[in-house]
Amino acid sequence: MTIEETLKYGREQLNKAAVENGDLDAWLLLAHVLKIDRNYYFLHGKDSMGDGEFGEYERLIAERSKRIPLQYLTGEQEFMGLLFKVNPEVLIPRQDTEILVEEALKRLEHGMSVLDMCTGSGCILISLLHYRKGIRGTGSDISKGAIRTAEENARNCGVDVEFCLSDLFDHVSGKFDMIVSNPPYIRSDVIPTLMEEVRSHEPMSALDGFEDGLYFYRRIIDEGREYLNPGGWIYFEIGHDQGRDVMELFENMGYRDIQTVKDLAGLDRVVYGRYMEA
Ligand code: GLN
Repeated sequence: MTIEETLKYGREQLNKAAVENGDLDAWLLLAHVLKIDRNYYFLHGKDSMGDGEFGEYERLIAERSKRIPLQYLTGEQEFMGLLFKVNPEVLIPRQDTEILVEEALKRLEHGMSVLDMCTGSGCILISLLHYRKGIRGTGSDISKGAIRTAEENARNCGVDVEFCLSDLFDHVSGKFDMIVSNPPYIRSDVIPTLMEEVRSHEPMSALDGFEDGLYFYRRIIDEGREYLNPGGWIYFEIGHDQGRDVMELFENMGYRDIQTVKDLAGLDRVVYGRYMEA
């Protein structure tokens, strides 16, 4: 089979399985197996596939047809211009989360310390340290697999951070100038409506925000007060309909300068506030 014919095969399979953006994913998996780009494809499309290569492609197409996310098959996702390793132990970094990083960067200055609660792949913390030199970073997560992945990503990106296996603040020590977090925030009753890729393959512990979706915000805002330096900030990513509720949690627990930031679609995406001891 030629490279062109192989791509046609991949597209047909994914379209037959009604995978969203099947044509694109068929191409991205082919580019991944052959380590080629569009330029190579147009110049060499009539070349034959190696046997091993076709077998590998066939396997990946079959997996993608079963709704395994593309990024778990290629093992990577770009975020903030950096490349992150991903696997089913971590949530795949989302483009929407770049807004949280951009907002936090506006506030972070040389010498500050930041805690990333529920760090997952480490994408938020590692990006902050890459783009703002001279800050100290700690990442915390309840999952061993996530901590392992985040450590590998930090090494690959050449940033020096500390990771801590911890159920929220249980094993966190010290004080921070900022806590950032993209915690699990999907209401439990909404989970069955998520895309199969997300619902069946991404870690449920990274998604489920329990009954009202606010469990982690409530606990981080409350317990975070003990871990913030005076005037320290909490920056959250939130679901589009959680702005009002999370602002209220901040207000009720004595935070000030509370604001929401909208995403490109005009929906609330980030909320932040600061804590001054009374
Ligand atoms: N902090 C990671 C991310 O934003 C993981 C978030 C999570 O697991 N809820 O991708």
